[in-house]
Amino acid sequence: MSPRSRATSSAAIPEQLGFAGMPERLFVCTPSKLGAFADCPRRYRYSYVDRPTPPKGPPWAHNSMGASVHTALKNWFALPAERRAPGALPTLLKATWVREGYRDVDQERAVYRRALEWLESYVATLDPEEEPLGVERVVATKTAVLALNGRADRIDARTTDDGPEAVIVDYKTGRSGLDADDARGSLALALYAFAAERVFRRPCRRVELHHLPTGTVAAHEHTEESLARQVRRAEETATDIMAAEKAVAAGADPDREFPTNPGSLCGWCDFRKVCPAGAGVAGKEPWTAVEHLGA
Ligand code: SF4
Repeated sequence: MSPRSRATSSAAIPEQLGFAGMPERLFVCTPSKLGAFADCPRRYRYSYVDRPTPPKGPPWAHNSMGASVHTALKNWFALPAERRAPGALPTLLKATWVREGYRDVDQERAVYRRALEWLESYVATLDPEEEPLGVERVVATKTAVLALNGRADRIDARTTDDGPEAVIVDYKTGRSGLDADDARGSLALALYAFAAERVFRRPCRRVELHHLPTGTVAAHEHTEESLARQVRRAEETATDIMAAEKAVAAGADPDREFPTNPGSLCGWCDFRKVCPAGAGVAGKEPWTAVEHLGA
């Protein structure tokens, strides 16, 4: 926990009060906004603070492919149950395929074919009759510090011995497989679960990462305590962001308040060319992360 965060946590709500007992404004955020600051405060500043936004690098092929697969699954669930069959997938995937970032048409076609294979295998594991509680559903809630909202890929309705529950499902299309530690450690999944429990008024403790390339599911069962820990973590990050933004507004040096965090992420960073720490790092090609998928 940073010194700034220690000064204001959800356990210390009175410290949230500003002058004349007025509550501080809640920090409006998504899990990805918090994640950007946790990864690199400078990247956060370029994305969310500096206006106009500094120029970004070109689009990434892996983002195009990931978005295309997510949209195809969203639209698969939008079909009536009797039409949710693997045969519907080529049309769905083609209709919303994002073409940006590929090296050439051959590579794009190879990735399309691979994505279609993943989708066909994946939907074969689903019960077409089952209606999720939500698909690409925005869930929102508030804490003493946060006004949190986020779009969950899918929220399933399941029944356990203890009764109905909601389950957070997040699709992954990256190269490496995922394990239970990834599901346990994901701040985004925990925050979706925290918000979904309030929105749907039923327990939401189970979070799952569905890795389409391998057809594996990495799952974690949260407890009330572990969700509360992740919410505190999010509040600490938000407190740090608000302190940095306030300091800049009061005249502090933005480069000092939003320091760089050079590391393996720099090669993939949209702002590598404008960032002093990233400028010396060899950038990845926009298609590097899909090269192993063929052509
Ligand atoms: S290039 Fe690296 S240090 Fe610079 S903003 Fe991006 S991630 Fe941060």
